[in-house]
Amino acid sequence: MKTIISRIQHNSEDSIVYEKASQILKEGGLVAFPTETVYGLGADALDEAASAKIYSAKGRPSDNPLIVHIADTDALYDLSCQVNERALKLADKFWPGPLTMILKKSPKVPDSITGGLDTVAIRMPSHPVASRLIKESGVYIAAPSANISGKPSPTTGEHVIHDMDGRIDMIICDDASKIGVESTIVDISGQVPILLRPGFITIEQLRETLGQVEIDPAIQNGLAKGVVPRAPGMKYKHYSPNAEVTIVSGQPAQVEEKINSLVLEKKALGFKTGVLCNTEDFDKYSADLVIDLGSKTDEAGEARQLFAALRRLDQEEIDFAYSEEFTSHDVGAAVMNRLVKAAGHKIIHV
Ligand code: AMP
Ligand code: MG
Repeated sequence: MKTIISRIQHNSEDSIVYEKASQILKEGGLVAFPTETVYGLGADALDEAASAKIYSAKGRPSDNPLIVHIADTDALYDLSCQVNERALKLADKFWPGPLTMILKKSPKVPDSITGGLDTVAIRMPSHPVASRLIKESGVYIAAPSANISGKPSPTTGEHVIHDMDGRIDMIICDDASKIGVESTIVDISGQVPILLRPGFITIEQLRETLGQVEIDPAIQNGLAKGVVPRAPGMKYKHYSPNAEVTIVSGQPAQVEEKINSLVLEKKALGFKTGVLCNTEDFDKYSADLVIDLGSKTDEAGEARQLFAALRRLDQEEIDFAYSEEFTSHDVGAAVMNRLVKAAGHKIIHV
């Protein structure tokens, strides 16, 4: 398949891009586009054949449901038969923005995009390109992250081109994603709201708006093993570069010593090594590739850098990578959640 690759110019010529992309979506094709979280791979959410193409382009397991992207709050009533006070409060506070809510689905939402569940995931993105595309095409856009399933989510147009060129109809490129980790997911379909995936909107912010919010045990600390997550997608191998990633957790001096000894050990065996760390520690490590995720005091900066850093490990053909544990006061919880998955839960405590 020949993929049309277009770059947003932020001028009047962009209207051609939106026209083409809208036409493709209305005809049941696939268009990747930027959002404030990560780049998404979109199809008409109510067209079963179109969303089936998302699963095959990504190699995504069919029981892993898709998030439906909307551009106005009225769409909530069309997609869900359970628009309650909580949903309206969340929409009022956090939309448009990086929050996905899970509600009972309306009959018009096909089972194939909800993985057979009776609930649907809905988000209103704030990115102007995403928003205009939803409005102009007139369709609700089902869109998971625009990466090959299991790989780090794309935060630049180049990442999407790398994974999806030749597999989808069109890629719309714009600047790098401003947030860099996927949306916060909260399930409000039951008695008590449950956080299913941490993101830029924190659990504290959700509690300020909703009162009691529980955390799905499967994501608690990101460390739980053998617990089945309620968001089906959270159970799969995720965000994995080819390199074997290990997190080293503990006091800074011990972490530095442990990482450097592991690096030396692997180098001696002829492997290429990488380290992910904060700016403050950048000079401490002797790996072949040391990636600076930004200052310890800037969790949002770490979130923006994380997926690009994981992809760089592959570009540089790193065999073994070691990461410091990052602070998780706010969006850092989302960073650690993704990192723990990228590491396949391999954590060394020193
Ligand atoms: P992605 O689109 O790649 O960010 O993945 C979407 C995430 O939302 C996956 O982890 C899904 O399992 C989760 N999700 C989507 N719909 C539902 C739903 N109805 N109930 C629970 N989790 C959902
Ligand atoms: Mg994804």
